Amino acid sequence: MSESLATVSYIGATILFILSLGGLSNPESSRRGNLYGMIGMTIAVLATIFGPRVTMAGIPWIIGAMVVGGSVGLYAARKVQMTQMPELVALMHSLVGLAACLVGFANYIDPAAAAHLTSAEKAIHEMEIYIGILIGAVTFSGSIIAFGKLSGKIGGKPLLLPARHWMNLLGLLIVIYSGWQFLHSASVNAGMLPLTVMTVIALLFGIHMVMAIGGADMPVVVSMLNSYSGWAAAATGFMLSNDLLIVTGALVGSSGAILSYIMCRAMNRHFISVIAGGFGTGTGGGTPAAANGDAQPAGEVVAVSAVETAELLREARNVIIVPGYGMAVAQAQHTVYEITKHLREKGINVRFGIHPVAGRMPGHMNVLLAEAKVPYDIVFEMDELNADFPNTDVAMVIGANDIVNPAAQDDPNSPIAGMPVLEVWKAKTSIVMKRSMASGYAGVDNPLFYKENNRMLFGDAKKMLDEVFVALKTE
Ligand code: NDP
Repeated sequence: MSESLATVSYIGATILFILSLGGLSNPESSRRGNLYGMIGMTIAVLATIFGPRVTMAGIPWIIGAMVVGGSVGLYAARKVQMTQMPELVALMHSLVGLAACLVGFANYIDPAAAAHLTSAEKAIHEMEIYIGILIGAVTFSGSIIAFGKLSGKIGGKPLLLPARHWMNLLGLLIVIYSGWQFLHSASVNAGMLPLTVMTVIALLFGIHMVMAIGGADMPVVVSMLNSYSGWAAAATGFMLSNDLLIVTGALVGSSGAILSYIMCRAMNRHFISVIAGGFGTGTGGGTPAAANGDAQPAGEVVAVSAVETAELLREARNVIIVPGYGMAVAQAQHTVYEITKHLREKGINVRFGIHPVAGRMPGHMNVLLAEAKVPYDIVFEMDELNADFPNTDVAMVIGANDIVNPAAQDDPNSPIAGMPVLEVWKAKTSIVMKRSMASGYAGVDNPLFYKENNRMLFGDAKKMLDEVFVALKTE
């Protein structure tokens, strides 16, 4: 393939990636967005393999690597449960970071990479390598820890080392000093030491940053690592002088940054405190220990049966359903929709209230509800619906916990203090569906359960909703 054809293909792929992102911004056009992305990526891969910079001898290596990587990816994608998607995404981010590090080191030790460069160009090239490895290493180790936390292999309790901000500052100073040494090193051998020192510090920083995050604040970190992975890819693009990789990386990096900003706003957090690590650990002098899942239930709860739940729903005029992670675990979305349809046919106004961090990934609930064919016009964001709870007869909470926890508003010492929540307790009656009194992801007790107007429907959400549906149909 000629240079110009490769360039045209790259431009085509870039346009498709932009259209893809545009499509993904709305549930109705998201399928189309995915399709654009897939076509764009196919064009990009083909244009790279058969482009002018790959020799014939290199093609079997690339195809071999693609078969291995593609098979692993295909196997993982087919095997992964919907509830494990966030962990898989975190693992993918770590691979982008690892790739940036490996490309950086390979580029540095490859004598051909800088042979044709002037000394100014060489300095820029080395700066690209240094920054690329820096971002890549933070992304790699941070994403591995995020994977561990999301999959429950590492506890959600934040690790707060003494003087952690000073340690971060010291790390930053060493990274800057090593960078200066690296750029002024006389040979590749001499440059290897500062480069390795920086890589180790960046790896430790990535671990430290994510280890210090409290449970409920993980969504912000996941979207932030998503952004980092994009910048790592863009840095790789600079190292390899590949325009498409630069553009694609910048698209992922900036869209991830926007998502992080939206998440921060949704969680009422400051972006800087996320980067510095160690939030979600109890603001206002709260005890970090409260976030470790040891929360003890406090108070009496009123349990109801499926038949009583059906009775409450039947008598209601306004119902708001608040789905959470438990709905995803139970795969209850289809029954939820059957019940919704049934109630709406009876003239009951049923709407859905979606918290921005419900479930385990951004948009998790929207995806499930769309899969169950719930019409988009009855699905509302938290801010659109929160004022309506006082006029609501029944707020039905399906497998949600942290996102409906009044302690976020009432208890300044709570680890989730300040996080906006769906105010279900303001409805005439709230019904919480879950299997036990266990806490949610943040590991904090939920005072909602003990409120006078709250009822608990204990059991697996799918099983209980099936029973509610049967009871509703047999009036
Ligand atoms: P939570 O994790 O707070 O609560 C989910 C509840 O569902 C649990 O208390 C559990 O209780 C219940 N549950 C689990 N399985 C079932 C089942 N089969 N049937 C019925 N109930 C079940 O989820 P929320 O959606 O309320 O909040 C999301 C949390 O996850 C927040 O803390 C958020 O910060 C965090 N998070 C969100 C991410 C995102 O991007 N959205 C990413 C990472 C973390 P029980 O065991 O008693 O059944």
